[in-house]
Amino acid sequence: MTIRYDAIVVGTGPAGAVAAEALGRAGRRTLLIEREHLPRVKTCGGGVTWKAAQALGVDLTPLAERTIGTVELHWRLKASATMPGREPLVHMFRRSRFDAWLVERALATGQVELKDGLAVKAVEADARGVTVRTAQGAFEADYLVGADGAAGPVARSLGLMQERHLLPAIEQDIVVDAKVMDRWHDRMALDIGTLHGSYGWVFPKEDHLNIGVGCFSTRSQPAKQLKDYGKRHLAYQLPGPMRVLRTVGFVLPLRPVGAPIQRGRALLAGDAAGLVEAFTGEGIHWALRSGQIAAQAIVDHQAQGARGELAYERRIDTALMPTLVDARRWAHIYLWCPRACYALPVRSPRFWGAVAKIVRGERDYTDVRRRLGALGRVADWLPVEMG
Ligand SMILES: Cc1cc2nc3c(=O)[nH]c(=O)nc-3n(C[C@H](O)[C@H](O)[C@H](O)COP(=O)(O)OP(=O)(O)OC[C@H]3O[C@@H](n4cnc5c(N)ncnc54)[C@H](O)[C@@H]3O)c2cc1C
Repeated sequence: MTIRYDAIVVGTGPAGAVAAEALGRAGRRTLLIEREHLPRVKTCGGGVTWKAAQALGVDLTPLAERTIGTVELHWRLKASATMPGREPLVHMFRRSRFDAWLVERALATGQVELKDGLAVKAVEADARGVTVRTAQGAFEADYLVGADGAAGPVARSLGLMQERHLLPAIEQDIVVDAKVMDRWHDRMALDIGTLHGSYGWVFPKEDHLNIGVGCFSTRSQPAKQLKDYGKRHLAYQLPGPMRVLRTVGFVLPLRPVGAPIQRGRALLAGDAAGLVEAFTGEGIHWALRSGQIAAQAIVDHQAQGARGELAYERRIDTALMPTLVDARRWAHIYLWCPRACYALPVRSPRFWGAVAKIVRGERDYTDVRRRLGALGRVADWLPVEMG
């Protein structure tokens, strides 16, 4: 007899893993399907912000490879300033470990069944339920969470997110000698202004550095320019030998404001829904939040006897989109005036304090804009798309 699940979740990134965990905790029989065999590698800097940890409600410090509070800001690979870390800002993880840990939490609920190494080919959804097609046949459920990332098939299959904007990013894992590694034991670096609309990063892991460059603008930076930047990267200015372990590029998708992210009983979460912070490229926090919101929307809808609205998109529009849209306005300020984005935090400890609070989840872009009064209202005129 075919099992009909309460929910199927596609993808074991942060969005899928937390959605499955929340559904499992609520006693919903859930099938979690992942194309790769776990643990799997994900192209990502692996910077998990304090605010992402807050969304999980877990102190990640004992699990993280490093927890960083100090940030070196660089201007065009030349001038630099060290922003002292009074409080922790970012946990550094290898995504394979972080995501595997999240999946363990989902499985520990006892309600989640994992099928990894199985690619979803297509999905169908209507007001009664969903069918998920794979090489091992079709699976049915009352609800679906499509958390299959920027290139997964769920959104495509449902005809959603066709007009999204894609921001390119490239990352590299490099091994440096112990002395250089020691220089990074308590700090990360960001390089501003070298390429139009881009920034470079150095994220120290336990035994290597993750370096990369991400781009805010969908127009300005073809992959070649990003690769050239990679060769001049901050980390390449460090003394001593260096071994490149891997170089990979991928995209960060952005949801156009108002674009539908649910169809029938199928919901998109995380990158599949384009929920990424354009200014920083942070996606993990938004994946966690949207996965949690998707699970709660399903539980609430079932509790109403599956009548009325499956209020997912509306909750995302209220809870997440205002901040994501304000992050795009900030990204536009950076596009027009990158120098200010270096000079302001360097010259004003108060400004840096506000940035740190955003990264820690104690404030968001919208709060900071409100506090700027009339100046903040000027931002209403800035574009809310990055294309
Ligand atoms: C270069 C780069 C650096 C980044 N650095 C950071 C950073 O430092 N901090 C940060 O917060 N964000 C960062 N991001 C963004 C972040 O990686 C994503 O926003 C985040 O991973 C989104 O999580 P998710 O769960 O939505 O999707 P994903 O993590 O992409 O997970 C999707 C899962 O779905 C699976 N899947 C895909 N297709 C199928 C299929 N057909 N069947 C079954 N399963 C499928 C995939 O294998 C994958 O496991 C970076 C992104 C890039 C490209």
